[in-house]
Amino acid sequence: MRILYICVYVSFLFSSEIYKEINIENIPNSTLKFLSVIGVDIDHIYQGDDFIQFAISQHDLEKLDLYNVDYNIIHEDLEQFYSSRLDNSYQSRDFELGSMGGYYTYDEIINRLSDINNQYPDLTELIFLGNSLEGRDIWAIKLSDNANIDENEPEALYTGLHHAREPMSYMNLFYFMDWLLENYEFDNLATHLINNRELWFIPAINPDGLVYNQTIAPNGGGMQRKNMLNTCNNGVDGVDLNRNYSYMWAYDNEGSSPDGCDETYRGNSPFSEPETQIVRDFVLEHDFPIAFNYHSYSNLLIYPLGYEYDNPAPQDDLDIMIEYGEDMVQFNGYALGSGPDLLYPVNGEACDWMYGELGIFAYTPEIGNYNDGFWPQTSRIIPLAEENLYPNQFLGLVTGSKYVVSANLSSDSFVQNELYPLNISIFNQGLGDSNGSVYINIESSDNVVFELENINLNNLSSRETIDLGDITYFFINSASGTLENIRVNVYDDDGYEYYSEIEFLTGESQILINEDFESNNDWTVGAFDDLAQDGIWELGVPNSTFDENNNLVQTGTDHSENGLNCYFTGNGDNPYSPGQSDVDGGKTTLFSPVYDLSEYSAALISYWKWYTNNQGNNPNSDYWIVQVTNDGENWVDLENTNESFNFWKNEQFILNEYVSLTNQIQFKFIADDSYYEGDNGSGGSLIEAALDDFLIKVFTDNEDECPIGDLNEDGLFNVLDVVVMVTLVLGPIDEWDIYLCLADMNGDEQLNVQDIVILVNLILN
Ligand SMILES: [Zn+2]
Repeated sequence: MRILYICVYVSFLFSSEIYKEINIENIPNSTLKFLSVIGVDIDHIYQGDDFIQFAISQHDLEKLDLYNVDYNIIHEDLEQFYSSRLDNSYQSRDFELGSMGGYYTYDEIINRLSDINNQYPDLTELIFLGNSLEGRDIWAIKLSDNANIDENEPEALYTGLHHAREPMSYMNLFYFMDWLLENYEFDNLATHLINNRELWFIPAINPDGLVYNQTIAPNGGGMQRKNMLNTCNNGVDGVDLNRNYSYMWAYDNEGSSPDGCDETYRGNSPFSEPETQIVRDFVLEHDFPIAFNYHSYSNLLIYPLGYEYDNPAPQDDLDIMIEYGEDMVQFNGYALGSGPDLLYPVNGEACDWMYGELGIFAYTPEIGNYNDGFWPQTSRIIPLAEENLYPNQFLGLVTGSKYVVSANLSSDSFVQNELYPLNISIFNQGLGDSNGSVYINIESSDNVVFELENINLNNLSSRETIDLGDITYFFINSASGTLENIRVNVYDDDGYEYYSEIEFLTGESQILINEDFESNNDWTVGAFDDLAQDGIWELGVPNSTFDENNNLVQTGTDHSENGLNCYFTGNGDNPYSPGQSDVDGGKTTLFSPVYDLSEYSAALISYWKWYTNNQGNNPNSDYWIVQVTNDGENWVDLENTNESFNFWKNEQFILNEYVSLTNQIQFKFIADDSYYEGDNGSGGSLIEAALDDFLIKVFTDNEDECPIGDLNEDGLFNVLDVVVMVTLVLGPIDEWDIYLCLADMNGDEQLNVQDIVILVNLILN
């Protein structure tokens, strides 16, 4: 009897809803809509060509059974699966991990906040916002200089943990806070954000759900999503806090559910829950132009409005949200769109409320890919936080002034002693006006001399562009073939510098070769020591391939604007089997024709490459090599790298800095898949390479062959030149020819006393 009692007790304490991961094949288009109508949470699904995979509660699974939906079970117990790959012994020197498989427990979140506040009392302020349903504290922390004073600085908001099973949403915020504080006064950007912004964080909006997850799964993996209100007799309790905001609350039953047992249950009235009331009251007290409400997962960046398919937000606002969004996802590759664009409509959602009611550009980043799931394995915590560092920084910048500087040269040849204009325009991309005046300062290499180096503008309003046109001129003080640079710096009273840099080669230039690989050419494939058996260079139209995370491995398009073809390393026939046609078993070599560059003083080569080797058994262990020869025997590296880019990337080299220019200039491009000491298995990796738009620009010496006035050609103007000039003027006319261009100062084809006068004046001045 006693034993039975214990069993009952234990099972009561730890009984929890079992979540499974399932796969539905051959889905018709209406399936997603159907699932959301019956209240199944599909915030996070993996969509293949004709299947979807997602997590589902037992309660919701019974609905699928009721409606005879066929599915396969991938993970019988998702919590078990997540917890099996979490590791409490995992350590990082750079970032403090928590005790729940690396994730912070609720107490650890509170302790970390107070530790941060104690360590940086002048740079942080901790604010108690209120209590959750079960009475737990919800805190906000502010990062700013003079944190205890409300300064007149642009504010930004970052929140986490609307959903209790999405712990990356707060781990990422602690990582960003650490970055800001540890780099303050060492890194210009961190210093600027702390000095000139007020960055607010609410890391854990749903503490009760988190504590419940800790209780049922102390090492991580708990699957409770909602808060802990008692709403359901035989299923999952709680209100979905991210359906409880007032804007378009209960707009329809597709974007949120009226059923207390459903994962998307919206509560019985808008802001019925203390947690959403706390967020509402806090946001209303502040002035946030922009915000992030973090969730996980799906590698998405979602902007409002999300309550219906035809986004009713004004196009001007959408343009800005898309412009910022495209910038923010440029490195992490998250898909950008509104909720309905990417998934399906929701209503009563936090970002819709922030934007719909208050005009805040509020985004939902969904951290992590399908394999990461709700509880990414411990070793993924830091990489996932890192891939969101740039968007977090960007958000902090654009809430105030942020400048995009464009500086352009209208000429592409630069010869000595000519004047050239520099065209400058400046765009205040941010949501805040300039802090005071805007200062422009031009720096350049020694041989580039500007007539005007500093320009001040009174101010530049948010989203305003000022086109200064050809505002200043410079001349070149060097012979041909030298590399020169110009940097245009722009800043306001925040003191943080934005800039645009230009590099150019001096001399008369012309494009000698512009190879877009659209038609037959003299390029050849294969070196005597090439060993690759598969993925050999070929000319044609590439087919894209994808890895299991849906990242591109091989490009599916060439680079040329009006073209189809490029050189690439072989096509397979299955886009989802990237290993089928990648480079295997050694290297493959592509040779350019031989070029005669002997007549030129300098040459620039430029090409667009694609190279990935960061996937497969041995990520980043293989090489992309580009070499040049000027004698057909000795090859010099232009590139020798294991860095991957699964996008088209431009490379440029000043050739004469690597080899002297002869009539035997040739290039080779090598993609290598080789076995190296310590490689896994046979050393195979996923290697794909491509090459397009190869260009050679050449420069002719522009050195003045006739330095007018320098009659003895010693590089100086002095009395010795006058002596030669006088001798010439007095001497016979038939000796004038060879000196005419040096000595005819006024260009009248005569040598006489007037030329002497001009030369003497030149010397005296
Ligand atoms: Zn979520």
